[in-house]
Amino acid sequence: MKDFLSSLGLKEENTGTSTGRNFIENKSAKAITSHTPSDGSEIAKVYETTKEDYEQVIKSSQEAFKTWQMMPAPQRGEIVRQIGLKLRKYKEPLGKLVSFEMGKIYQEGLGEVQEMIDICDFAVGQSRMLYGKTMHSERPQHRMYEQWHPLGPVGVISAFNFPVAVYSWNAMIAAICGNTVIWKGSEKTPLCGVAVQNIIAEVLEENDLPEGIFSLITGAREAGEWMTTDKRIPLISATGSIPMGKQVGQTVAARLGKTILELGGNNAIIISKEADLEMAIRAIVFGAVGTAGQRCTSTRRLIIHEDVYDQLKERLVNIYKSIKIGDPLDSDTLVGPLIDQDAVDMMQNALKKVEEEGGNVVCGGDVLENMEGHYVKPAICEVENHYEIVQHETFAPILYLIKYSELDEALELHNGVVQGLSSSMFTLNMREMERFLSHRGSDCGIANINIGTSGAEIGGAFGGEKETGGGRESGSDAWKAYMRRQTNTINWGDELPLAQGIEFDV
Ligand code: NAD
Repeated sequence: MKDFLSSLGLKEENTGTSTGRNFIENKSAKAITSHTPSDGSEIAKVYETTKEDYEQVIKSSQEAFKTWQMMPAPQRGEIVRQIGLKLRKYKEPLGKLVSFEMGKIYQEGLGEVQEMIDICDFAVGQSRMLYGKTMHSERPQHRMYEQWHPLGPVGVISAFNFPVAVYSWNAMIAAICGNTVIWKGSEKTPLCGVAVQNIIAEVLEENDLPEGIFSLITGAREAGEWMTTDKRIPLISATGSIPMGKQVGQTVAARLGKTILELGGNNAIIISKEADLEMAIRAIVFGAVGTAGQRCTSTRRLIIHEDVYDQLKERLVNIYKSIKIGDPLDSDTLVGPLIDQDAVDMMQNALKKVEEEGGNVVCGGDVLENMEGHYVKPAICEVENHYEIVQHETFAPILYLIKYSELDEALELHNGVVQGLSSSMFTLNMREMERFLSHRGSDCGIANINIGTSGAEIGGAFGGEKETGGGRESGSDAWKAYMRRQTNTINWGDELPLAQGIEFDV
């Protein structure tokens, strides 16, 4: 076993169920074999959670909620601060594991762990700022205010492409709010879950905290469904594809539970004829090929002004020829592998559909058969926005080029998809910028000027509109989604005036 894996406490066989410090051994359970997409070889096994073990996890999470919610929020923040310190200690091996198990390049693996550290720091500050408003009552000698209370056990279901950061955006904020957290990561990256749980367990141990504050379960869709149908989990935060979000949203709504849904994107950049093209090119290339096109914020569509279309297309095609594709742990690599063979097949099908619908593949798209692992050449295609395939998120490095002549048309094309996550415009024209950011501009949850669509800082609320699900995570006031609001009125006088002027004698 490689050193970085054992330094994270990983073994050949791991148990994927934990109530905090304790891992529940159950070797009669099914095992998931984790492979590295870089050469397809086996890394290690993780035993899935059984229904019986799940019950134990839920019970301990409910039990821990009784004590955790009573701990003052800044003290909960102190535990999260220590988790941030531990993550600093394990940043390198954890970043390497993310790269090895998911396939993103090492620098991006480190970046993910840095995001975990950043959200811990943010959550520590937030733990002293769970503010409610005070209102002036319309009745004399009355005081009115609102408080924010924790919800209970919060379920986090996450996707393979951000196997550690998305969990921490949810878990650290949920925890300082006084909730306990149960995490089900992706079945495609089970070792990342176990490694993070091992790191958190050290902090729980050092502080002698009860079991059940941070729990882990492992499994595929069925384990996710145990959570979504479970009335004991008042909030489910789910990150993944739109079909998954539609199922989760309906299941949780049927029991009137709460959801935070963070689903797929179909992100576009508008390139004005007044864009700084040098800056735009850097943003486009990284946005489209970074993480092999497997970010929810990856740049999928370029809506280019006709005056600069040919020039930009030619530049991009030349750059695409020299993109370094290879082992994600090699420092020269810009594009690692896709997660698995299904992802490769989906990309090939998408390229076929582009041609069937009348578009053309300008460059790339080849499967690199001579390399072990799931490597492809990023592709550029000329298309029209209304093509069925362009309307879908294909989770692979395909960049669609679309031409426009008027800004109104560009905005219509831009908003003419069902997803609404991230968006951007490159222009040096102030009117165009303001228009793009106005209510008549981008309809996305994230709208940028002169930076790309890909990635986001943890300080802002992260999420998107329309079929992206409407949820917000991470910074700004996203913490409110992990709490319940209570309005309180106190009468400090000696009369009982009723609202609406109602009078009656008793
Ligand atoms: P996926 O939808 O296949 O799976 C995501 C998670 O949901 C996994 O843990 C899976 O086991 C679970 N799941 C699947 N069906 C379920 C069900 N019916 N009930 C409960 N759980 C269920 O997604 P993926 O392939 O792992 O990730 C890629 C997708 O995630 C892309 O669409 C991407 O855009 C999206 N994503 C969105 C964001 C965001 O913040 N908006 C961030 C990362 C990824």
